[in-house]
Amino acid sequence: MNTFHCACGNRVYFENDRCLACKRGLGFLPDHLCQAALEGPGPVFEAHGPDGLIGHYRKCRNYSQHQVCNWMVPADSDDSFCMACRLNRIIPNLDKPGNREKWLNVEREKRRLIYDLLRLGLPFTAKRDDPRTGLAFAFMEDQEPNQEFVDADWSGGKVFTGHANGLITINILEADDAAREAMRQRMNEASRTLLGHFRHEIGHYYWDRLIQDSEWLEPCRQIFGDDRQNYSAALKRHYREGPPADWQQGFISAYATAHPWEDWAECWGHYLQITDALETAHAMDMGIPQPQDFDHLIETWTHLSITLNLMNRSMGLRDAYPFVLTNPVIDKLRFIHRLIQETASP
Ligand SMILES: [Zn+2]
Ligand SMILES: [Zn+2]
Ligand SMILES: [Zn+2]
Repeated sequence: MNTFHCACGNRVYFENDRCLACKRGLGFLPDHLCQAALEGPGPVFEAHGPDGLIGHYRKCRNYSQHQVCNWMVPADSDDSFCMACRLNRIIPNLDKPGNREKWLNVEREKRRLIYDLLRLGLPFTAKRDDPRTGLAFAFMEDQEPNQEFVDADWSGGKVFTGHANGLITINILEADDAAREAMRQRMNEASRTLLGHFRHEIGHYYWDRLIQDSEWLEPCRQIFGDDRQNYSAALKRHYREGPPADWQQGFISAYATAHPWEDWAECWGHYLQITDALETAHAMDMGIPQPQDFDHLIETWTHLSITLNLMNRSMGLRDAYPFVLTNPVIDKLRFIHRLIQETASP
């Protein structure tokens, strides 16, 4: 993630909605990928950067009404929501205590995901504009049975985080740190984050959009395996038997062994995470160069991730990146890198 500058010159960050130096309100302009200082009484604001006026914008409705977004909408747009909030199909029931806080966390991580897509130039449209190839989000919670009508074989209204045909569902319990950590331990995962879920699930979306009907499908099968094996049977087997003993040789995570689609989504998520972290390090003047090519990217990331882990140990925390990039995993990441380089238009 890049860092930004307020019109007053102060460094500001992606999540900020106010400049602590000049006290002006801030709004993120997704069409310029930058923060801007807002001037005027609104609802249409002048958006200023360090070099002057950028344009006229309104606050996203989730910004002005709910304070769960800090993105802006061009003043001449017909939309009341920003390009990230337009993708929402279902949001949590805000009458229920605690849900607003969970939604706030979910929206923050979702915007980081959308920033990933914008910085890489990955194509996406809203499902409301294109039901066939569009993208949408449903942020849902498990349903309690209605006691009056509960019947013996009620299997529970459980919400599963996942992707189906462009719709990404997130169980908002994942926004509760304690619940998510308990789940991580139960699933024996090295890491489990809300942002990681978003980055994994969007991988499934891009498999559908960029791989399945393209000339990339065969080369993809060469590297990730044959995706025509039965998906639900493969997942059942994974949950029953666990990963093969030597999984670390060829996979980024135990879950990636379940099916080639999961391997793909896991690697896709790592690619977004790695490139985002490298951008952050570059933006923060850590002496990290802009990667010149893929090999350089991996080399730089290896150094940076070890540094991050050692820093975390200095702080008494768990490793930030508890993963090993073996050669087969690097080849998978290389494939994703090439695909994005050749199909995206930043
Ligand atoms: Zn300022
Ligand atoms: Zn918004
Ligand atoms: Zn998946």
